[in-house]
Amino acid sequence: MPLLDRRHWIFDLDGTLTLAQHDFDAIRRDLGLEPGRPILEQLAAMPPSKSDPLHDELERMEEDLAREAQMAPGAHDLLSALHATGCRLGILTRNKRRLAHIALQATGLARFFEAPVVFGRDDAEPKPSPDGIQQILDIWGATPSDAVMLGDYVFDLQAGRNAGTATVLVDLLERGEDWGAWFDVRVRGLAELLPG
Ligand SMILES: [Mg+2]
Repeated sequence: MPLLDRRHWIFDLDGTLTLAQHDFDAIRRDLGLEPGRPILEQLAAMPPSKSDPLHDELERMEEDLAREAQMAPGAHDLLSALHATGCRLGILTRNKRRLAHIALQATGLARFFEAPVVFGRDDAEPKPSPDGIQQILDIWGATPSDAVMLGDYVFDLQAGRNAGTATVLVDLLERGEDWGAWFDVRVRGLAELLPG
């Protein structure tokens, strides 16, 4: 089904609907983690006695960032247009659900998303697992062939592809050259997706 005919749109949050603000290298350094490897997976490989305090520290850093979140260009216009035509809108983030709500409030985008379909790492296996997408589609009673997953990182695309949705790379930072196997559409900003 053509992208803009699809009725169920699931967005990554940080760096997709908000301006990228997470310096993951700095976060890894502050937490004493190895460079270049995903944070949640490194924490998951540790015993809880070691990872629990690091999770707390990570959440404190992420909360500061969430309160300062700024909307990405085109986000409000695209969400308004999709909402106006009756599309269902959801969020799937590797951040905490609580912090996703803080960032949505800070950016003024909260009204587009119903709480049960704002999914964080407390709700599903982290992307690139398709688990969160599948749960959100179940809530909507929708099929992957009528859904789109959008994000700014390869995990977003892999999660979508693993779930069977269309995938859109929102490539504000133009990092996507190596990820061509994973996206159906690449845009340089959300405004490129506006219908008409
Ligand atoms: Mg992101």
